[in-house]
Amino acid sequence: MNARARRFPACKVSPVPVVAPTRVAALSHTGSVRRSNQDAWSYSVEAGVFVVCDGMGGAAGGEIASRTAAEAFLEHMEAISPELRTPRGVAKAVCAANRRVQARAAHDASLAGMGTTLIALAGCGDHEWRLVHVGDSRCYRWRAGTLSRETEDHSLVAEQLRMGVIDEEQAALSPMRNIITRSVGTRRSVDPEIQTLFAEPGDVLLLCSDGLTRELSDEGIAALLAGSLSLEERNAALLNAALGAGGRDNITSLLIEIP
Ligand code: CA
Repeated sequence: MNARARRFPACKVSPVPVVAPTRVAALSHTGSVRRSNQDAWSYSVEAGVFVVCDGMGGAAGGEIASRTAAEAFLEHMEAISPELRTPRGVAKAVCAANRRVQARAAHDASLAGMGTTLIALAGCGDHEWRLVHVGDSRCYRWRAGTLSRETEDHSLVAEQLRMGVIDEEQAALSPMRNIITRSVGTRRSVDPEIQTLFAEPGDVLLLCSDGLTRELSDEGIAALLAGSLSLEERNAALLNAALGAGGRDNITSLLIEIP
């Protein structure tokens, strides 16, 4: 596998050597219903930066927003060394992504209002990662047979769940489940949530769009990550299971194995 991979062409930047090397498996699929894939992923193993975006917007807007944001975030993170990847440094990269999506939209009326979610990991020390997210794309950590969800969705139903207004079952059926409360590119300002995640050797980290988590429960994801299959095989199993469950949205799944 290429150490540096993208689903789209990009400017050349010099990767900063970083952190412990990791293994990666990334897949994205249009799904069974949608005509285009508005998800995007990008990563650099050398720089220790991994990002998934799920775009929204009419015409080509969603595709351009997710691609633009993923690319801008990766470029900015690659340019700063791990010790400078403070929460502030990571927030700056998200702001840069926000600005670039806005700038793209400003030059083309058909792209007005486009935006994207963003979920990303950036190595910042020995097994220490900055985890940043905007919207309802998620990060999970698989450790010693246990799956934990590391992010809380920035969505209307997630807020209703937190307030106890609805339960999980109602959330899954809610007509408002597509409404996210934070996004990249739709406003002049962006509000990323940034955490520090401590990974251990053997951990598998999953970044994914809601096309995966709408189709698969957390228990379903855990069952597919268990066992002795390779990282690539487990990632393919996740994608195929989401497709088998309906594939009603674009599906993106990126697995990172901590050595
Ligand atoms: Ca989606």
